[in-house]
Amino acid sequence: MSFVDEIGQWPRERVVALYENVTEADVLAALGRGERTLRDLAALLSPAARPHLEAMAREAQRLTRWHFGRTVGLYAPIYISNLCAADCLYCGFAVCSGVQDERVTLTDDQIGAECVALKNMGYDSVLLLTGEAPKAVPPSRIASAVALAHRHFSSVSVEIYSLDEADYRLLCYNGLEGVTLYQETYDRELYREVHPRGLKRDYEYRIDTLERAGNGGVRKLTVGALLGLFDWRIDLLWTAMHARYLQKHCWRSAVAVSFPRLRHTPPRFRVDYPMSDAELVQAILAMRLFLPEAGFNLSTRESAAFRDRVMPLGITSMSAGSSTRPGGYGSKGVEVLEQFEVEDTRSPEEVVAMIRRAGYDPVWKDFDRAFRA
Ligand code: SF4
Repeated sequence: MSFVDEIGQWPRERVVALYENVTEADVLAALGRGERTLRDLAALLSPAARPHLEAMAREAQRLTRWHFGRTVGLYAPIYISNLCAADCLYCGFAVCSGVQDERVTLTDDQIGAECVALKNMGYDSVLLLTGEAPKAVPPSRIASAVALAHRHFSSVSVEIYSLDEADYRLLCYNGLEGVTLYQETYDRELYREVHPRGLKRDYEYRIDTLERAGNGGVRKLTVGALLGLFDWRIDLLWTAMHARYLQKHCWRSAVAVSFPRLRHTPPRFRVDYPMSDAELVQAILAMRLFLPEAGFNLSTRESAAFRDRVMPLGITSMSAGSSTRPGGYGSKGVEVLEQFEVEDTRSPEEVVAMIRRAGYDPVWKDFDRAFRA
């Protein structure tokens, strides 16, 4: 049985039913419990929990400090290619996005230059990204990029197209530690609509990707739904189920959750389910109460003010000084196509200063490596 089977037992109507008739008493009961059920999570994500955000914030902060201390990990993305044969309607890299900026795949020298630039900023943890271009950037090419980055950084993760288990083994052999892969939306019907072409169109292959990665030896698995694509209360319930499934079935791996919120999209796409700042805060708090041991990531998609406010409430890892275009740290010009515009444009030093001012320690080094075989 894979997660496809598990989520198959939780169609949209069954998730919606969890939210029906949620009362204040349900919220208080969920707040008071040590281990929380899906019904508790629905209560905490529901509008009935809005008057209790302060109590949720206190508990979320307590749990985060208990499990992670006063630390925040820092990482930076390196885009190695912006070629993409998929056509995800919400993405600037999509093959039919209509954006005409230059598309490139970095050479080894250019990837090396990006690594050196980030290393000089203090980073020891990076995320390599590509579009869905298995011909131009096959798994073997990604493996060599991982090996190259691993010469510079202790922790190398990827956010790339879905692979087979054998490919993940190859990447791990070359130094891979983590895989980030968003289902975007767990709703099958909408998933088909917003992914009209490309390998990514295969919902089932994608949804089982992180389990294949875990089975292939990947030590950090990061899930997420693209917030704004669908009703966030429904998608986050499914996301939480997915995270718990991976914690149980890939127990050698650490499971994390990202909260990517759709902000800047290509002109052809309209965000049908915009999520407010207050709703995203509630979502992060509720998810922390349900998943106390999961790492939570918040990227530079969010504004500096918002990240500063939310960081102490449950976030354990942040990107900083990010570029979303290949060569963005110096090896190429700014005319190259970027995936999306970042909101928090502060330098790594400024983000580090903010973390310290909040009474937390910025963590550049990934200590998990000490435990690797
Ligand atoms: S989300 Fe990924 S697969 Fe989809 S168009 Fe963008 S880069 Fe390509």
